[in-house]
Amino acid sequence: MEWMISYENRNVFQYCPLCSARALKVHKKSAFVCTECGLEFYLNVAAAVAALIEDEQGRLLAVVRACKPKEGMLDLPGGFVDPGETAEEALRREVMEELGLQVEDERYFGSAPNRYLYKGVLYATEDLAFVCKVSDFSPLQKKEAEIRQVLFLRPEEIQPERFAFDSIRQFLQKYRARA
Ligand SMILES: [Zn+2]
Repeated sequence: MEWMISYENRNVFQYCPLCSARALKVHKKSAFVCTECGLEFYLNVAAAVAALIEDEQGRLLAVVRACKPKEGMLDLPGGFVDPGETAEEALRREVMEELGLQVEDERYFGSAPNRYLYKGVLYATEDLAFVCKVSDFSPLQKKEAEIRQVLFLRPEEIQPERFAFDSIRQFLQKYRARA
């Protein structure tokens, strides 16, 4: 499977960021090389987090995406890890930013690779999932325009195929099998 050095990225990344020559060529799975100055330009995997939030009745919180990519499909709260941040800090920050909820007792659940195409650039991510609790759901609100709706799904209502990304579908298959 092609990852960073995809057809999309070969079109986007043509100019060397160091010498500006239009001379970037595919070098290996995650890098280009500049045939003018020799720079190896890496597009490394980005870390991202996903929250499996359970309420007191054992239902799972899911959101409906309001924007591209994958508008209208289901997703889990989460997002990219910022530079200098732990995965746990990213998880708490993203859930607070998206839903106004304070995550507690997060436990690492597993990882899965994902492909994220945004405005013509293909990003390879490594998604890290955590099962976590929220003791107070009363502050719940859709704080970001990226979210259309918030759902609570009983284990038997979880349909991985309704979720937007491969990595999340993998997490939910494992989660559902365990539940
Ligand atoms: Zn160069």
